[in-house]
Formats: sequence, C-alpha cells, structure tokens
Amino acid sequence: MKQAEVIAICNQKGGVGKTTTAVNLGAGLARSGRRVLLVDADPQADMSAALGWRQTDSLEESIVSVLTKVRDDMSFDPAEGILHHSEGMDVLPSNIELSQFELNLVGAMSRENIMKNYLRQVKGGYDYVIIDCMPSLGMLTLNALTAADKVIIPVQAQYLPTKGMAQLVDTIAKVRRQLNPGLKIGGVLMTLVDSRTILAKESMDAVRARCGKDIRVYDAVIPVGVKAAEASGQGESIYSYDAESKPAKAYAYLTREVMRDGEKEKTDRLRDSESR
Ligand code: ADP
Ligand code: MG
Repeated sequence: MKQAEVIAICNQKGGVGKTTTAVNLGAGLARSGRRVLLVDADPQADMSAALGWRQTDSLEESIVSVLTKVRDDMSFDPAEGILHHSEGMDVLPSNIELSQFELNLVGAMSRENIMKNYLRQVKGGYDYVIIDCMPSLGMLTLNALTAADKVIIPVQAQYLPTKGMAQLVDTIAKVRRQLNPGLKIGGVLMTLVDSRTILAKESMDAVRARCGKDIRVYDAVIPVGVKAAEASGQGESIYSYDAESKPAKAYAYLTREVMRDGEKEKTDRLRDSESR
C-alpha cells in the first residue's frame, strides 16, 4: 500500500503564509485527485477557520481529543475528529485547548512522537498529510517535524532574511539527528511577494543566496493578492474563490512542483530497491 507523504508547513514567524499555503496546497492536491488530510496543529485554529469551521472550541472531537488518546495509550477510531470539506480534503480541526495540551506534554513519555504515532494509524487512507504548524518551535512543532517526511518553509519576501530562518534550519537538522533521520527540507516558498517593490526583489535574491545549493527554493512564488485573504474569509480555497487570480495560479504551480517531487522520490526509491 502506498504510504502518505507527510508535509509540515513550518516557520516560527507568524503571518508568513503558512496557513494559506497549507489550505491551498491541500486543496490543490485534492483537485488533482489526491487523498488529502489537513492537520491543524495551531491552537489558534486559523486553518480550521479558513476552511469554514469557526467555532471549533465547541467541538468535542479534534486534534486535542485524538492526541490525548494517543498520549494516554488509549485506542481511538481513526475517523475521530475528522471533518470533510466540500472541496474534497479531510480536515482535523484544532482549538484553543491544544495550547494546554502542549504544556502538559512536558512530562509525557515519548512526547515528541505523539503526532507521528497518531498519523501512523490514520495515514494509510491518504496520499498526502499536510500539517499546518503554529508560529513557534515548541513541542507541537517538534511533534510535526518528527511526524513529517518533508518540511515546506514559507518565507515572507518583504523583509530581508532574518536569524529566524537559520534557527529553523538548525532545529530541522537537530530533529533529523535526534528524532527523525528521514526528515527533508522540501523547499523554501516565497510568499506575500509584491513584485512592484524593489524590496521584494532584493529579499528574494537574499533568500536564494542564503539557501544556496543546499536548500531548494520553489519556482512557485506566491504574490500578495487580496483574493487569497478573501478566500479564507469565505471558508474556501483560492481555486474555488477565484481560479483566475494570481495567487490561484501560483498555488497551482506549487501543487505541481510538490506532486512532481513526490513522484520522483517514489521512482528513486523503487530504483534503489531494485538495484539492491
Ligand atoms: P501564518 O499561518 O504564517 O501566520 P497566514 O497564512 O495566516 O500566515 O497569513 C497571514 C495573513 O496574510 C492572513 O490574514 C492571510 O489571509 C494573509 N495572506 C496570506 N497569503 C496572502 C497572499 N498571498 N496575499 C494576501 N494576503 C495573504
Ligand atoms: Mg497560521
């Protein structure tokens, strides 16, 4: 059986387009016929809201209920908490209680592996699992990185790159050494690009220079566009809200890059196992 590819969308800086990327990459993959689970791993529940679930505090089943069961070594129904969006994606919503859950993890056994153990039990039903991370490098984000095959790092191309990116890359390297040897950086994604400004161009050049040969930068560049924010307000993806908009075309391009990588990696794995 084909295993799902787990992709964490991660940057400890807020407002860089993580949630918007998770939603529109997930919806893009679903439109291409892939089975997608979107996991909201932020207590602010922005992704749940962007997909139309704005009152998640009243939900009895959510990421909090399932992760609590995994933490306590209890069995659960793989369908628990999972909602279905009209555009074809499944969604595991979050709510503010996730914040308390994270604090309580401090003394838990195998505390970095809870998300991974949860996904092990549900990911068989999907081609892609996309985790929308919160803006911190705390225990929930470590859980996402431990569960992931790949990280996508959205970077807002309106500022020159800061220390934050180096810190994130260091954290990923540390997770690779200590928790998840297979973790890869899928790439850096430039978001909120206002191509009219010189600063956008300068900051894109600076990000590319800093990434060098080691870290790939996606060819897709996400332009700033009010439609991207409006779509979230309507609980739908950018394709459904305005397929002709620039952000829609850019996210569709990103979706193709991610699918192409996934398929190439699969053939490489097959070739490796045949040549052995
Ligand atoms: P993060 O999850 O990193 O905090 P979000 O995806 O929530 O970032 O984006 C931050 C804000 O910017 C949100 O209000 C969102 O609607 C808006 N936004 C995201 N991407 C775009 C875009 N391409 N153009 C315009 N606004 C955007
Ligand atoms: Mg967010």
